[in-house]
Amino acid sequence: MSEAEPLDAVVIGAGFAGLYMVYRLREQGFSVHGFERADGVGGTWYWNRYPGARCDSEIMYYSFSFLPDLEQEWPLTERYPAQPEILRYLETVASLLDLRKEFTFGAEVTAIEYDEAAGLWTLRTVDRKTGAGGTATARYVVTAVGCLSTANRPRFPGAGAFAGASLHTGDWPREPVDFTGKRVAVIGTGSSGIQAIPVIAAQAAHLTVFQRTAQFSVPAENGPLNEDMVALWRANYPEWRRRARHSPTGFPYVPSINLAADASEAERNRTYEAAWGTGGFTFLFGSFADIVVDEAANKTAADFVRGKIDEIVCDPDTAEMLKPRDFPIGTKRLPLDTHYYETFNRPNVTLVDLKRTPIEEITATGIRTSAGQHDLDMIVYATGYDALTGPLEALGIRGRGGLPLKDAWREGPRTYLGLAMPGFPNLFTITGPGSPSVLSNMPVSIEQHVEWIGDCLSVARERGTDVIEATEAAASAWTDHVQEVASVTLHPKAASWYMGANIPGKPRLFLPYIGGVGLYRDHCAAVAASGYEGFTMSGPHREDDGDGNRSADGRAA
Ligand code: NAP
Repeated sequence: MSEAEPLDAVVIGAGFAGLYMVYRLREQGFSVHGFERADGVGGTWYWNRYPGARCDSEIMYYSFSFLPDLEQEWPLTERYPAQPEILRYLETVASLLDLRKEFTFGAEVTAIEYDEAAGLWTLRTVDRKTGAGGTATARYVVTAVGCLSTANRPRFPGAGAFAGASLHTGDWPREPVDFTGKRVAVIGTGSSGIQAIPVIAAQAAHLTVFQRTAQFSVPAENGPLNEDMVALWRANYPEWRRRARHSPTGFPYVPSINLAADASEAERNRTYEAAWGTGGFTFLFGSFADIVVDEAANKTAADFVRGKIDEIVCDPDTAEMLKPRDFPIGTKRLPLDTHYYETFNRPNVTLVDLKRTPIEEITATGIRTSAGQHDLDMIVYATGYDALTGPLEALGIRGRGGLPLKDAWREGPRTYLGLAMPGFPNLFTITGPGSPSVLSNMPVSIEQHVEWIGDCLSVARERGTDVIEATEAAASAWTDHVQEVASVTLHPKAASWYMGANIPGKPRLFLPYIGGVGLYRDHCAAVAASGYEGFTMSGPHREDDGDGNRSADGRAA
C-alpha cells in the first residue's frame, strides 16, 4: 500500500462486521484492506474475556448465515455461547475464508481525513507495539468498530493511586485472572457486571459489589442443548434465518401480541412465571407487547421481578437495595443472568449502594465511600462504554473542509439510516447510530449492513460514479424519525447508554433505531431500489496531474 496506489476500500475492525465486509468486498472484486487494533480477529469477543462473558443471543442464530457448511458443522453445545466459543467461531471463519492476510493487526487508527481534491480518504495508524506510524489511502472507508468498544472509565478521585490490579471488563487481559484468596470489588451492575459477579464471587475471598443503579435481570436459563433441538435447527436453518431477518429484533421468534393491560392479574403472573422459567428475552418479548410502551403494563413486569428479588434474596435490606426503581423495565438493556440475585446470599459477598454511600476516593488500598474504607486487592470496572458514537469519534475522522466528526455531532449524531453522514462522502458505518443494531441480534443487522454497503459500491462502480454522500435533508429526516419512533416507547425515561446518559456531557437523545430490524431492512432495500434516494452519487472524480495521466476514476492510469 502506498499513496500512489489507493485502495478501493479500507475496513476498520475485524469482528463479525469487519470480517464479513472485507470478505464481501474482496468477492466483489474491490481492492480492500482491513485494520484492527487487536492482535487477532474477534472484535467484542477478543476484548471481553471477563469471567462469565457470554452472549445473550442463543447460539443457533448468533452466527453468519452465508456459510451453510459451517452452520451444519459448528457444534451447538450450550444455549448461550461463551466468549471463548464465539472467538473460536470467528477465528474459524477467518481461516476458512483466508481473511487474515487482508488485515493489519495491532494497528490503531488515529486519523481518517478526506482529501476533497483527490476524492480519497487517508488513514493514519499507529502500531500498538512499536509505535510506528503507517498510512493508507482509499476511496471508500467502512467502519466496523462495534457499538460498545470504547470503554467508559469513570474518573474517581485517586484512581491512579490504587496499588492493586485495576481491570475493565471490556479490556480484559488475555491471560486468565486468578481471584483466589483476593478481596475484589466490582463497580457496575449492567450486563457485564451481572455476568461477572457470580463467577468472581465463587472464586474470591470476598467480593464487594458497588451498585449505582439497581438493574432488572432475568435468568438466562443457560444449559446444554438437547440433540433433538439441534437436529431441528440444522434441518430448518434457512427458514429460521429468514424469520430473523424480518423480525423486530433479529431473533427468529414471533413476539407476543397480547397486552398486559388486557390480561387479568392471574394471567399476567402465569405468563411472567412461564417466561421467567423459559429464560432469556422471552420475559420481555414473549410475554406482552405493551411492556415497553405502556407505563401501567411496564409496572406489572417490574413488580414481578421485584417480587422475585424478594423471593430469592434472604436479607431484606439487600433485597431492597437490589430492587430497581429508577427506570421502566426494558428501557435499559435487560441483562440475562446465571444466579445473579442468588449471589447476594453468599457470605463472602457485600452490596454497597452508591446512592446511599457514594464513592469519595480510590485509595492505595481500596475504595473509600462516604460510609468508610473497603480494603481491596483488585478493582473490576464493569462501567460500560461510550456507546455507538464513542468508537467512531475515537477514529479522528475529518470530512469535507476538515470538519471533525466530533464537531459535526456536537448536538448528537446525525446519520442517514445509521449508514452514512452528510459531509463525510464515501464513508459508511456498520451498526452506526441510527441503525437498529444494538437493539437486535447483531449478526443479523451486520449482514444486512454489509450487504447493503457492498451492493451500493457495486452499483456506483457500474454507474461509473465514485462519490456517494448522504444528503443533509435525508440525514435530518432520518435523525428526526429515529427520535420520533423512540418517543412512542418508554425508553426516553431511562438514563441509559441508549440515551447517551452514562457519559457526562454527552448529548441526550436515543441513539439506535427502534423501529425494528425487518422494517429497517425493507426501508434500506427501498432506498436502494429507488436508485439510492437520499444519497448523491457523483463523479467520476477527476484529478488531472497535468500530463493527462489519469484514468476516468481518478486513479493513476
Ligand atoms: P452498562 O450497561 O453501561 O453498565 C455499566 C454499569 O456501570 C452500570 O451499572 C452503571 O451505573 C455503572 N457505572 C458507570 N459509571 C459509573 C460510575 N461513575 N460510578 C458507579 N457506577 C458506574 O455496561 P455493560 O454492563 O458493560 O453493558 C453494556 C452493554 O454491552 C449491555 O447493555 C449489552 O448491550 C452489552 N453486553 C452484552 C452482554 C451479553 O451479550 N450478554 C454482556 C455484556 C455486555 P448506572 O446504571 O447508574 O449508569
